[in-house]
Amino acid sequence: MAEKVVIIGSGPAGWTAAIYAARANLHPLVYEGALTSENQIKGTAPLGQLNLTTEVENFPGWPFAETSAFAAYSKSALPEDQYGIIEGFYTGKNTAHGKRSALGPELMFYMRQQAVNFGTRIITDDIVKVDFQAHPFKLYALEGAVIEAVAVIIATGARANYLGLPSEDRFKNNGVSACAVCDGALPRFKNKPLVVVGGGDSAIEEATYLTKYASTVYLVHRRHELRASMIMQQRALTNPKITMKWNRALDEVLGTDKEGVTGARLKSTVDNSAEDLKASGVFLAIGHTPNTDFLGGQVKLDSKGYIVWTQPHRTNTSVEGVFAAGDVADSYYRQAVTAAGTGCAAALDAERWLAEKGHH
Ligand code: NAP
Repeated sequence: MAEKVVIIGSGPAGWTAAIYAARANLHPLVYEGALTSENQIKGTAPLGQLNLTTEVENFPGWPFAETSAFAAYSKSALPEDQYGIIEGFYTGKNTAHGKRSALGPELMFYMRQQAVNFGTRIITDDIVKVDFQAHPFKLYALEGAVIEAVAVIIATGARANYLGLPSEDRFKNNGVSACAVCDGALPRFKNKPLVVVGGGDSAIEEATYLTKYASTVYLVHRRHELRASMIMQQRALTNPKITMKWNRALDEVLGTDKEGVTGARLKSTVDNSAEDLKASGVFLAIGHTPNTDFLGGQVKLDSKGYIVWTQPHRTNTSVEGVFAAGDVADSYYRQAVTAAGTGCAAALDAERWLAEKGHH
């Protein structure tokens, strides 16, 4: 029998859609993504981008509080095995100041659990292909399952971009990374100079995070003005461990197979002059690409590959019965809270569409 609604993706959009769909008795099935090394490298593993970040200061409802209060909350909200996974957050570095904001992975565990509490079923696998030509729709999973669905909510988010330099590829996982939080604590970066490329909020967040480990962080930006929000700009410009490298592009990652990254060659965007920096790591923070390849062109996308919402203030896509939520359809706001908001909207849109079609 076809599933009433299948949700693909497990960031804030996916879990919020699941919470709403479950509470509407739609018995949602969530494909949360596969735990593969390929997904880990691409940044498309379960729980989305928030799971790759540290403190989340702007998700409403989670103000700065005692670390022990978060530990107590987690312990009461999560099953023992899940609490066991995140217990490490409450020890070591995170307790240094006694108080903190909620951590991204922590929020994701809470959202997932909230969806489970209302009866959401979860499969830890990727959907790699879809057939939206016939109805019910067919979804093909990486491990071989084929699922039929009356309605589908796509919430597969976006992933970090790389520049595409051959030297960048050569040193991936050997000093080149697009996730400071995932890799910053590695011994190879400790007390060494590091390079971060980009000028948006992500670049500043990564650079600031890396100052915990690095001797110096060079923030390499192709212009002389940051794109980041004012509060983040101030954070970067007043941090004594961050050195701005304005008007520069990363030209080549320097290194050897044995040592991995040893430096970065920068090129001026003004006069083409070159400059070599010593560094044991290069972190890319230059924006994102939506995870829409698996749709095989069956849903209308914009020029950057994001799903197009085809009706104003609705989450409908070009395929009737297929809805989209979160960063996969939003290249503009891209916030955890806006993703959660459109996840809610997609569940309500799907519920109303199913009711119209007689699926209660
Ligand atoms: P973004 O705002 O799109 O910034 C990307 C940065 O990378 C820009 O500075 C851009 O330079 C640079 N860039 C892009 N392509 C490049 C290339 N080929 N070579 C060199 N530089 C390149 O992306 P983001 O920083 O990932 O942020 C995405 C969204 O998430 C934003 O809405 C942001 O506010 C939000 N966010 C918020 C927080 C927070 O509030 N704490 C944290 C992270 C992200 P130009 O400026 O010259 O275009």
